[in-house]
Amino acid sequence: MSERPRLTVLSGPSGVGKSTVVAHMRKEHPEVWLSVSATTRKPRPGEQHGVHYFFVTDDEMDKLIANGELLEWAEFAGNRYGTPRAAVMERLEKGEPVLLEIDLQGARQVRESMADAHLVFLAPPSWEELVRRLTGRGTEPPEVIERRLAAAKIELAAEPEFDETLVNTSVEDVARELLALMDVV
Ligand code: 5GP
Repeated sequence: MSERPRLTVLSGPSGVGKSTVVAHMRKEHPEVWLSVSATTRKPRPGEQHGVHYFFVTDDEMDKLIANGELLEWAEFAGNRYGTPRAAVMERLEKGEPVLLEIDLQGARQVRESMADAHLVFLAPPSWEELVRRLTGRGTEPPEVIERRLAAAKIELAAEPEFDETLVNTSVEDVARELLALMDVV
């Protein structure tokens, strides 16, 4: 067993409830550090720069990628998303647990570059429930929802690539299971 804390990656289809699980977990355990991603997506109502994401322009994203400043990055539903590398490495070196909440393509890149990362797949209780959640958010135009559903189908098929699967039947249960996997409780 390595003494080094592992990087935990939470992934799964869009709309499965990853951010709700993470928000709940951090309310109970604010000491768990969550990486803040850079994205070219426009902020949704209530989202704050530096808290939910670093909202960047296409040019800024190009530079982050070209300078090797991202641990991983992916294009998702027409926008780019990436994990700033320096902040993650700093925490891991200090021995603090680190959590990434990213899409499947990003999870695969982390697997390639950090063999000991712990990859956790958040699965919906059913496909119908996932469709309901993706359609119900009401903040995106229909073509964006269609793209997200198409991406979700592909993402669901990737479950066997992951070290663990957690089924999102209850936010509280999944948050507790995730903390246990991270050795926080
Ligand atoms: P949303 O636009 O709903 O906030 O996020 C869309 C998708 O992008 C989600 O599946 C989310 O997990 C993923 N995502 C967020 N940040 C990153 C990141 O830094 N890298 C990758 N690869 N995916 C991300």
